[in-house]
Amino acid sequence: MALPKELSTIKRFGPRYGRTTRHKIGLIEHAQRQKHKCPYCMQLRVQRLAAGIWQCRKCNAQFTGKAYLPAKKKMTAQELITQIATQEPAETHTPAVEQEAEVIEAREEQTVSQEQ
Ligand SMILES: [Zn+2]
Repeated sequence: MALPKELSTIKRFGPRYGRTTRHKIGLIEHAQRQKHKCPYCMQLRVQRLAAGIWQCRKCNAQFTGKAYLPAKKKMTAQELITQIATQEPAETHTPAVEQEAEVIEAREEQTVSQEQ
């Protein structure tokens, strides 16, 4: 069976190292060799120079990131505020807790009525 295109880089290993290990490396290398967005000029021109070192081919900026992927952009305060504002308010009582409270109240009423 032919390998998918994103795993074509693992052909160099031949049958060695096991299928799972080879496929994991293939997926990592496929993601690593794609063009990434530059955090300075926002162009898709960033390539990996070495482990953790990335360079933009447009603005020639060099920066550090993760070994196989450039680090994700950190969230700004304004983005965090908009994310919190768009979230729905959390429920104070979960339905399961309310059901348990109703069961406990019903039992207390039964015991009261039996005592009378
Ligand atoms: Zn750039």
